[in-house]
Amino acid sequence: MTDFEDLTRRAAPLEPDAAARDRLFELARSHVAAFLEGLPDAPAFLAGPQVLVRRHEADMPEAGRDAAEVLAYVRDCVDAPGLTAASPRFMGYIPGGGLFHSAIADLLAATANKYSAYVPAAPGAALIENVVVSWLAGAAGYPDTAAGVLCSGGSLATLTAVVVARDARDKAGGGVVYATRFTHHCVEKALHIAGRGAAPRRMIETDARRRMSVEALRQAIERDLAEGLRPWLVVASAGTTDTGSVDPLDAIADLCARHGIWLHVDGAYGGLFRLCPEGQAILTGMERADSLVLDPHKTLFLPYGTGAVLVRDGRLLHASFSASAAYMMQSSEADVGPSPSDLGPELTRHFRALRLWLPLQLAGVAAFRAALTEKLALARRLHARLSELDGFDPGPPPDLSVVAFRYRPSSGDANRFNEELLAKLQDDGRFFLSGTRIDGDLYLRAAILSFRTHVQHVDELVDGLVQSVDALQATKRA
Ligand SMILES: *Cc1c(COP(=O)(O)O)cnc(C)c1O
Repeated sequence: MTDFEDLTRRAAPLEPDAAARDRLFELARSHVAAFLEGLPDAPAFLAGPQVLVRRHEADMPEAGRDAAEVLAYVRDCVDAPGLTAASPRFMGYIPGGGLFHSAIADLLAATANKYSAYVPAAPGAALIENVVVSWLAGAAGYPDTAAGVLCSGGSLATLTAVVVARDARDKAGGGVVYATRFTHHCVEKALHIAGRGAAPRRMIETDARRRMSVEALRQAIERDLAEGLRPWLVVASAGTTDTGSVDPLDAIADLCARHGIWLHVDGAYGGLFRLCPEGQAILTGMERADSLVLDPHKTLFLPYGTGAVLVRDGRLLHASFSASAAYMMQSSEADVGPSPSDLGPELTRHFRALRLWLPLQLAGVAAFRAALTEKLALARRLHARLSELDGFDPGPPPDLSVVAFRYRPSSGDANRFNEELLAKLQDDGRFFLSGTRIDGDLYLRAAILSFRTHVQHVDELVDGLVQSVDALQATKRA
């Protein structure tokens, strides 16, 4: 005989009572407060063999542990080692944010656990998602015909877009793909997953500002046409990961329109700068893309796990991804727009839209616009300050908020010097910059994208760079 009472009693820890919840809330509150209050001084990077503390992570206890002990484990063994992406001095790769409002949104979303994939199951959650996606589409300059969906990030968004581009314009395969060497590697992955890994590729030359050369693109397209090949897909960047360069989107869109080529714009890093006037000016033409990727977990400062794909003719997105099954609820007539599950590969999914909607509601859009204007101005300031310093090659002026620069030592191997400079900065850990290679030369990259990064951090970075160069040169002379 099953002893239901006994099973219920033993399963009870899954539903903490009010007092236990209050205790957990209080522990979490002080955990979060200590983390945030520590950020101004915490290292942006903590590396080395000693920093990964192991305690009891592999041991899943039969009886639950004390909450204070478990949260202390998270603090010491998870939060501390590696990159602190939430730091104002984290400027590596493309920084992510971590808006506090979004953390609250995640708590609310996880507690109610609405089934946001599907309108009949969660009309309010689906409505919020559709509202957020329309807002993103409006910010991108897209017309009302556009549709889109939130997904885990830029890579999944790119895959979704490539599948739509394939279904719409390359059903039988064989179409040619045009990109540059600065195109993000997720495009390659997406082509592979979408069954177009063998599609002919053209690496289009870039100019001195590392933007796609429209003339080279035009020639490549004409060459392919002359040889009887069919140009299928142009992937342009609204902000490359390496240097933040924005391809000449308007001119590229003209070429694509003339030849019936699908234009995909990768705006994972840069696209959302269109929210501020300075960004809007440089991103002209982005709104002409057939498909567009945006990463709110980069340029709207959300926690990781929030990307977006938009398709100009929304019917095509629906055509590629809508599906139904006998066991699903029938759609009601509620006027909230499509079910997200009909617009992308995911069915059951996190209710991501709330982490975007809540900060927009609570902080207001103007705060985002101001932060984005500030990031662009900070990058220009960093570039200007490096230009004034002896020995630094600041690279071309930044299109957006990435400054790729290097030091030119008066003697010795420049790449070696910059490797050592980067390693020294990373060892110090106060700032975190990453590097990239362009034409064999190592460049340091300062990607300024955290809402927490302000002018004092950029000025401190310049001082830190000068000191690090001096220290390196002193060891070389010694
Ligand atoms: C980050 C990035 C991606 C990939 O996005 P994920 O969110 O990391 O999957 C694609 N393109 C560009 C330009 C990026 O900066």
